[in-house]
Amino acid sequence: MSIQRPKGTQDIIPGTIEKWQFLEEQIRKICSEYGYKEIRTPVFEATELFQRGVGETTDIVNKEMYTFMDKGQRSITLRPEGTASVCRAYTENKLYALQQPVKMYYLGPMFRYEKSQAGRFRQFHQFGAEVLGGEDPLVDAEIICLIWDFFGRIGLKGLVVEINSVGCPTCRAEHRIRLQEFLQECKDDLCPDCQNRFTKNPMRILDCKNSSCQKLTENAPTTLDTLCVDCAEHFAKTQEYLKIAGIAYRINPRMVRGLDYYQKTAFEVTAEGIGAQNAICGGGRYDGLVQEIGGPATPGIGFAMGLERILSVMEKQSVEMLPEVEAPVVIAALGEAARQEGFRLLGDLRQAGLPAVMDLLGKGLKGQLKYADREQARYVLILGDDELSRKMVIVRDMRLGEQQEIPLDQIKAFLLNHTKCEM
Ligand code: ATP
Ligand code: MG
Repeated sequence: MSIQRPKGTQDIIPGTIEKWQFLEEQIRKICSEYGYKEIRTPVFEATELFQRGVGETTDIVNKEMYTFMDKGQRSITLRPEGTASVCRAYTENKLYALQQPVKMYYLGPMFRYEKSQAGRFRQFHQFGAEVLGGEDPLVDAEIICLIWDFFGRIGLKGLVVEINSVGCPTCRAEHRIRLQEFLQECKDDLCPDCQNRFTKNPMRILDCKNSSCQKLTENAPTTLDTLCVDCAEHFAKTQEYLKIAGIAYRINPRMVRGLDYYQKTAFEVTAEGIGAQNAICGGGRYDGLVQEIGGPATPGIGFAMGLERILSVMEKQSVEMLPEVEAPVVIAALGEAARQEGFRLLGDLRQAGLPAVMDLLGKGLKGQLKYADREQARYVLILGDDELSRKMVIVRDMRLGEQQEIPLDQIKAFLLNHTKCEM
């Protein structure tokens, strides 16, 4: 039996990878324009980092982590998200000593043991960004701006930005009391997950996907009802800045997001037409997190977006995303001497920055021309014993169907001239 890839994973093969590369290019471009620097952290971390940094009451930590003991009996987890790692790296590398805030982005695979279905994978990819060391609402607005600008640039339509404020530990305590009071009566009718949340993290009940829980909590007090003066002001300012940036947001008082450490601003971007898994980006402020994992008290905010879901929206909306691929030059050599000369020429062309390939299987002329066709070559250089003895090469223009002979020592200049002005 042949071996297949594990459930919930994907091979990204030529033909599809170009879309990924396009997206990755756009990500790097916008991040550099907004002043975010890339950070790369390990794909695995100590399990405790996520237990503390994502939170014991989250689905991620409770159900979805790929955790194993390594040969040294350490509990290791494949990273399910990026924020905890970035906060750890901020502390471990003393980035708090740099000019604040520190603005960073990451791009890479995440791992969650989820039921695999449309839009839900076990290895998926996120682009995320974090701003550490800034609590001003302008930071919140700027990061939402980046997201909005990014989706606009890649041509996504029909997106909804929802924001909320989940308050701080002070006003959340008040909300918790009021919410538990409200839920006291219907507590036993909630789903098992929510019954569990009732004592551990009642706020998350507001975000339950179960429709009967949603109905029961329809009139439940939200965090917006109990915001303290500081949080209310922060939320108002954030909105003021979002308006200046021209971002059409919606306030959703029930959107509390999955992670335990969110404070104040929480936000989510959803897309139409990709089914139930319609969240393409989520994020929020997490002022207590760096300290929670052993660093200095540092405010922070960040987001993560799922690249598979973005690509699926792009496909649904038929967004044009294939970058112009530079057509390669194909060298078709006949006979061993010509092959050697062709191989030398191949190196020359590549050194000059021209994408160039040659047949590696010893095909005849017909086969090599077919190969050139498949590679969508614009020019084929045909080199046989006869041409070689005259130090010439036949240049065949595949688009025009014409050919001419050119001295071997002028071929590089010829191609540089022709390809540069035509592409
Ligand atoms: P969901 O509600 O869909 O489970 P989440 O709250 O678990 O999302 P986050 O932890 O906020 O998601 O991750 C940010 C983004 O990463 C999501 O908005 C989504 O686009 C993407 N994402 C999360 N889990 C998966 C997955 N298993 N497969 C593909 N993409 C995912
Ligand atoms: Mg999830």
